[in-house]
Amino acid sequence: MSDSYAIGVDIGGTKMAFALMNRAGQVLESTQKPTHASRGAQAMIGDLADGINHLISLAPAQPMGIGIGIPGQVNPDTGLIKNAYNLGWQEVPLTEWLSPLLTSKLPIQVMKDADASLCGEYYYGAARGTQNCLYICIGSGLGGAILANDRLVSGFNGTAAGIGHIMLYPKGEKCVCGLIGCAETVVSGPGLVRVFKKLLAATGNPAPSADISSHFILDALGKGDPLAKQAFSSLARGLGRVISICISIVNPQSVVLGGGMARAAFDQLLPEALQEIKSHALVHTYQDLKILPSTLTSSAIGPASLVWYSGI
Ligand SMILES: [Zn+2]
Repeated sequence: MSDSYAIGVDIGGTKMAFALMNRAGQVLESTQKPTHASRGAQAMIGDLADGINHLISLAPAQPMGIGIGIPGQVNPDTGLIKNAYNLGWQEVPLTEWLSPLLTSKLPIQVMKDADASLCGEYYYGAARGTQNCLYICIGSGLGGAILANDRLVSGFNGTAAGIGHIMLYPKGEKCVCGLIGCAETVVSGPGLVRVFKKLLAATGNPAPSADISSHFILDALGKGDPLAKQAFSSLARGLGRVISICISIVNPQSVVLGGGMARAAFDQLLPEALQEIKSHALVHTYQDLKILPSTLTSSAIGPASLVWYSGI
Protein backbone atom coordinates (compact mmCIF):
# COMPACT_ATOMS: atom_id res chain seq x y z
CA MET A 1 0.00 0.00 0.00
CA SER A 2 1.39 3.38 -0.91
CA ASP A 3 1.71 6.00 1.80
CA SER A 4 3.37 9.37 2.28
CA TYR A 5 6.20 9.86 4.74
CA ALA A 6 7.68 12.89 6.42
CA ILE A 7 10.72 13.39 8.62
CA GLY A 8 10.46 15.75 11.56
CA VAL A 9 13.17 17.13 13.83
CA ASP A 10 12.62 19.09 17.01
CA ILE A 11 15.82 20.94 17.91
CA GLY A 12 15.86 21.76 21.61
CA GLY A 13 18.47 23.25 23.91
CA THR A 14 19.50 19.82 25.23
CA LYS A 15 18.36 17.28 22.64
CA MET A 16 17.33 16.86 19.02
CA ALA A 17 14.35 14.54 18.53
CA PHE A 18 13.91 12.86 15.13
CA ALA A 19 10.87 11.00 13.77
CA LEU A 20 9.83 9.30 10.56
CA MET A 21 6.06 9.63 10.35
CA ASN A 22 3.38 8.51 7.90
CA ARG A 23 0.34 10.48 6.80
CA ALA A 24 -1.78 8.85 9.53
CA GLY A 25 0.52 10.42 12.11
CA GLN A 26 2.13 7.13 13.13
CA VAL A 27 5.78 7.44 14.13
CA LEU A 28 7.53 4.55 12.37
CA GLU A 29 11.04 5.32 13.57
CA SER A 30 12.40 7.79 16.07
CA THR A 31 15.73 8.69 17.57
CA GLN A 32 17.37 11.37 19.70
CA LYS A 33 20.75 13.03 19.81
CA PRO A 34 22.21 15.41 22.37
CA THR A 35 22.32 18.98 21.08
CA HIS A 36 25.68 20.02 22.61
CA ALA A 37 25.05 23.54 21.39
CA SER A 38 28.46 24.79 22.55
CA ARG A 39 30.07 22.99 19.56
CA GLY A 40 28.64 25.59 17.20
CA ALA A 41 26.13 25.48 14.37
CA GLN A 42 28.25 23.61 11.77
CA ALA A 43 28.84 20.60 14.03
CA MET A 44 25.20 20.52 15.12
CA ILE A 45 24.00 20.62 11.53
CA GLY A 46 26.35 17.71 10.76
CA ASP A 47 24.62 15.66 13.50
CA LEU A 48 21.25 16.84 12.25
CA ALA A 49 22.09 15.55 8.75
CA ASP A 50 23.27 12.18 10.16
CA GLY A 51 19.98 11.73 12.03
CA ILE A 52 17.91 12.65 8.99
CA ASN A 53 19.96 10.44 6.63
CA HIS A 54 19.46 7.52 9.01
CA LEU A 55 15.67 7.95 8.80
CA ILE A 56 15.78 8.40 5.01
CA SER A 57 17.53 5.01 4.82
CA LEU A 58 14.80 3.38 6.93
CA ALA A 59 11.79 4.90 5.11
CA PRO A 60 9.66 2.43 3.09
CA ALA A 61 9.54 5.04 0.29
CA GLN A 62 11.17 8.40 -0.37
CA PRO A 63 9.86 10.89 2.24
CA MET A 64 7.97 13.92 0.93
CA GLY A 65 10.14 16.33 2.89
CA ILE A 66 11.69 17.37 6.17
CA GLY A 67 10.16 19.64 8.80
CA ILE A 68 12.31 21.25 11.48
CA GLY A 69 11.19 23.12 14.60
CA ILE A 70 13.76 25.38 16.25
CA PRO A 71 13.64 27.61 19.34
CA GLY A 72 14.28 30.96 17.71
CA GLN A 73 13.44 33.59 15.14
CA VAL A 74 13.10 31.91 11.78
CA ASN A 75 12.46 33.01 8.23
CA PRO A 76 10.14 30.16 7.11
CA ASP A 77 10.64 31.04 3.43
CA THR A 78 14.43 30.75 3.39
CA GLY A 79 15.23 28.60 6.44
CA LEU A 80 17.52 31.31 7.79
CA ILE A 81 17.71 31.33 11.58
CA LYS A 82 17.93 34.96 12.58
CA ASN A 83 18.70 34.02 16.16
CA ALA A 84 18.26 31.05 18.46
CA TYR A 85 19.71 32.17 21.79
CA ASN A 86 19.48 28.72 23.45
CA LEU A 87 21.67 27.33 20.71
CA GLY A 88 23.97 30.33 20.42
CA TRP A 89 22.95 30.74 16.76
CA GLN A 90 22.81 34.03 14.91
CA GLU A 91 22.20 34.39 11.17
CA VAL A 92 22.58 30.65 10.50
CA PRO A 93 21.37 29.60 7.01
CA LEU A 94 20.12 26.23 8.24
CA THR A 95 18.46 25.03 5.03
CA GLU A 96 21.40 26.12 2.89
CA TRP A 97 23.94 24.31 5.07
CA LEU A 98 21.84 21.20 5.67
CA SER A 99 20.71 20.45 2.09
CA PRO A 100 24.11 19.42 0.64
CA LEU A 101 24.67 17.00 3.55
CA LEU A 102 21.55 14.93 2.85
CA THR A 103 21.62 11.65 0.92
CA SER A 104 18.37 12.57 -0.87
CA LYS A 105 17.50 16.03 -2.07
CA LEU A 106 14.31 16.66 -0.09
CA PRO A 107 12.45 19.92 0.50
CA ILE A 108 12.97 21.38 3.98
CA GLN A 109 10.54 23.53 5.96
CA VAL A 110 11.88 25.27 9.07
CA MET A 111 9.60 26.97 11.61
CA LYS A 112 9.76 28.31 15.14
CA ASP A 113 9.28 25.36 17.53
CA ALA A 114 5.91 26.54 18.90
CA ASP A 115 4.56 26.93 15.33
CA ALA A 116 5.69 23.40 14.56
CA SER A 117 4.02 22.10 17.74
CA LEU A 118 0.77 23.83 16.92
CA CYS A 119 0.92 22.35 13.42
CA GLY A 120 1.18 18.89 14.99
CA GLU A 121 -1.77 19.60 17.30
CA TYR A 122 -3.76 20.81 14.26
CA TYR A 123 -3.17 17.61 12.28
CA TYR A 124 -3.03 14.97 14.99
CA GLY A 125 -3.60 16.42 18.44
CA ALA A 126 -5.85 18.59 20.57
CA ALA A 127 -6.43 21.23 17.85
CA ARG A 128 -7.86 18.80 15.27
CA GLY A 129 -11.00 20.18 13.70
CA THR A 130 -10.37 23.79 14.78
CA GLN A 131 -9.46 26.60 12.41
CA ASN A 132 -8.49 29.12 15.11
CA CYS A 133 -6.25 28.04 17.94
CA LEU A 134 -3.78 29.52 20.38
CA TYR A 135 -0.93 27.22 21.45
CA ILE A 136 1.01 27.92 24.62
CA CYS A 137 4.14 26.05 25.65
CA ILE A 138 5.15 26.30 29.30
CA GLY A 139 8.58 24.82 29.90
CA SER A 140 12.00 26.38 30.30
CA GLY A 141 10.37 29.50 28.82
CA LEU A 142 6.91 30.58 27.71
CA GLY A 143 6.26 30.27 23.97
CA GLY A 144 3.22 30.69 21.81
CA ALA A 145 1.80 30.13 18.34
CA ILE A 146 -1.35 31.21 16.57
CA LEU A 147 -3.48 29.42 14.01
CA ALA A 148 -5.94 31.82 12.36
CA ASN A 149 -8.35 30.58 9.71
CA ASP A 150 -6.29 27.40 9.21
CA ARG A 151 -2.99 29.24 8.76
CA LEU A 152 -0.08 29.65 11.16
CA VAL A 153 0.64 33.31 11.87
CA SER A 154 4.39 33.92 11.73
CA GLY A 155 4.16 37.70 11.51
CA PHE A 156 6.23 40.18 9.52
CA ASN A 157 9.62 38.91 10.71
CA GLY A 158 8.81 35.63 12.42
CA THR A 159 8.20 36.95 15.92
CA ALA A 160 4.39 36.69 16.17
CA ALA A 161 3.00 35.16 19.38
CA GLY A 162 6.10 35.92 21.45
CA ILE A 163 3.84 35.74 24.46
CA GLY A 164 6.58 35.03 26.99
CA HIS A 165 7.69 38.64 26.73
CA ILE A 166 4.35 40.34 27.26
CA MET A 167 4.94 42.61 30.23
CA LEU A 168 2.71 41.47 33.10
CA TYR A 169 4.64 42.65 36.14
CA PRO A 170 5.69 46.34 35.97
CA LYS A 171 7.68 46.02 39.20
CA GLY A 172 8.84 42.52 38.45
CA GLU A 173 12.12 40.79 37.81
CA LYS A 174 14.50 41.22 34.90
CA CYS A 175 13.83 38.69 32.16
CA VAL A 176 16.47 36.78 30.18
CA CYS A 177 15.55 39.06 27.24
CA GLY A 178 16.63 42.15 29.21
CA LEU A 179 13.15 43.58 29.74
CA ILE A 180 11.49 43.85 33.14
CA GLY A 181 8.47 41.84 34.29
CA CYS A 182 7.92 39.60 31.26
CA ALA A 183 5.27 36.89 31.65
CA GLU A 184 7.88 34.13 31.54
CA THR A 185 9.63 35.48 34.64
CA VAL A 186 6.71 33.83 36.49
CA VAL A 187 4.96 31.59 33.94
CA SER A 188 7.69 29.02 33.20
CA GLY A 189 9.64 26.32 35.02
CA PRO A 190 12.46 28.70 36.03
CA GLY A 191 9.82 31.33 36.93
CA LEU A 192 8.11 28.91 39.29
CA VAL A 193 11.43 28.10 40.95
CA ARG A 194 12.30 31.79 41.32
CA VAL A 195 8.92 32.68 42.88
CA PHE A 196 9.11 29.69 45.24
CA LYS A 197 12.63 30.62 46.39
CA LYS A 198 11.55 34.21 46.99
CA LEU A 199 8.57 33.09 49.09
CA LEU A 200 10.79 30.68 51.01
CA ALA A 201 13.38 33.39 51.74
CA ALA A 202 10.61 35.65 53.08
CA THR A 203 9.58 32.99 55.63
CA GLY A 204 13.13 32.87 57.06
CA ASN A 205 12.90 29.06 57.09
CA PRO A 206 15.95 27.08 55.98
CA ALA A 207 16.06 25.89 52.37
CA PRO A 208 15.35 22.18 51.83
CA SER A 209 18.34 19.91 51.34
CA ALA A 210 17.07 18.80 47.92
CA ASP A 211 17.66 20.91 44.83
CA ILE A 212 14.70 23.24 44.27
CA SER A 213 13.55 22.44 40.74
CA SER A 214 10.13 22.72 39.16
CA HIS A 215 9.76 18.94 39.72
CA PHE A 216 10.52 19.44 43.40
CA ILE A 217 7.85 22.16 43.63
CA LEU A 218 5.23 20.14 41.74
CA ASP A 219 5.95 17.25 44.07
CA ALA A 220 5.53 19.55 47.08
CA LEU A 221 2.30 20.88 45.55
CA GLY A 222 0.98 17.31 45.39
CA LYS A 223 1.71 16.98 49.12
CA GLY A 224 -0.20 20.18 49.90
CA ASP A 225 2.82 22.37 50.70
CA PRO A 226 1.47 25.94 51.17
CA LEU A 227 4.50 27.70 49.61
CA ALA A 228 4.40 25.46 46.55
CA LYS A 229 0.69 26.20 46.33
CA GLN A 230 1.33 29.93 46.47
CA ALA A 231 4.10 29.85 43.84
CA PHE A 232 2.04 27.65 41.57
CA SER A 233 -0.94 29.94 42.00
CA SER A 234 1.18 32.88 40.73
CA LEU A 235 2.06 30.84 37.66
CA ALA A 236 -1.57 29.81 37.00
CA ARG A 237 -2.84 33.37 37.41
CA GLY A 238 -0.09 34.73 35.14
CA LEU A 239 -1.05 32.15 32.54
CA GLY A 240 -4.68 33.26 32.82
CA ARG A 241 -3.63 36.88 32.25
CA VAL A 242 -1.62 35.93 29.15
CA ILE A 243 -4.53 33.92 27.77
CA SER A 244 -6.97 36.77 28.43
CA ILE A 245 -4.74 39.18 26.45
CA CYS A 246 -4.27 36.77 23.55
CA ILE A 247 -7.90 35.69 23.20
CA SER A 248 -8.94 39.35 23.10
CA ILE A 249 -6.70 39.78 20.05
CA VAL A 250 -7.01 36.54 18.09
CA ASN A 251 -10.36 35.11 19.30
CA PRO A 252 -9.42 31.40 19.13
CA GLN A 253 -11.82 28.49 19.44
CA SER A 254 -9.37 26.59 21.60
CA VAL A 255 -6.20 27.07 23.62
CA VAL A 256 -3.83 24.10 23.72
CA LEU A 257 -1.32 23.97 26.54
CA GLY A 258 1.92 22.09 25.88
CA GLY A 259 5.38 21.89 27.40
CA GLY A 260 6.59 20.03 30.48
CA MET A 261 4.80 22.18 33.03
CA ALA A 262 1.39 22.00 31.32
CA ARG A 263 1.80 18.28 30.84
CA ALA A 264 2.68 17.70 34.50
CA ALA A 265 0.06 19.96 36.08
CA PHE A 266 -2.72 20.79 33.62
CA ASP A 267 -5.54 19.99 36.06
CA GLN A 268 -4.02 22.15 38.80
CA LEU A 269 -3.39 25.05 36.38
CA LEU A 270 -6.82 25.27 34.87
CA PRO A 271 -9.14 26.50 37.66
CA GLU A 272 -7.07 29.55 38.63
CA ALA A 273 -6.19 30.38 35.04
CA LEU A 274 -9.89 30.31 34.15
CA GLN A 275 -10.79 32.51 37.07
CA GLU A 276 -8.21 35.05 35.92
CA ILE A 277 -9.47 34.93 32.31
CA LYS A 278 -12.98 35.64 33.55
CA SER A 279 -11.82 38.74 35.40
CA HIS A 280 -9.71 40.11 32.53
CA ALA A 281 -11.50 39.32 29.27
CA LEU A 282 -14.90 39.96 27.76
CA VAL A 283 -17.37 37.14 28.14
CA HIS A 284 -17.78 36.47 24.40
CA THR A 285 -14.02 35.78 24.10
CA TYR A 286 -14.09 32.88 26.60
CA GLN A 287 -17.65 31.61 26.95
CA ASP A 288 -17.18 28.88 24.30
CA LEU A 289 -13.40 28.64 24.57
CA LYS A 290 -11.90 25.20 25.13
CA ILE A 291 -8.63 24.97 27.04
CA LEU A 292 -7.03 21.60 26.40
CA PRO A 293 -3.78 19.80 27.19
CA SER A 294 -1.46 18.80 24.35
CA THR A 295 -2.00 15.19 23.30
CA LEU A 296 1.08 14.63 21.15
CA THR A 297 3.46 11.91 22.31
CA SER A 298 6.59 13.05 20.46
CA SER A 299 7.99 16.55 19.99
CA ALA A 300 9.02 15.58 16.44
CA ILE A 301 5.42 14.99 15.26
CA GLY A 302 4.79 18.75 14.98
CA PRO A 303 7.87 19.40 12.83
CA ALA A 304 7.06 16.38 10.62
CA SER A 305 3.52 17.66 10.05
CA LEU A 306 5.01 20.90 8.67
CA VAL A 307 5.65 18.85 5.54
CA TRP A 308 1.89 18.35 4.99
CA TYR A 309 1.12 21.92 6.04
CA SER A 310 3.61 23.44 3.60
CA GLY A 311 2.49 21.20 0.78
CA ILE A 312 6.11 20.46 -0.08
ZN1 LIG B 1 11.40 38.84 28.36
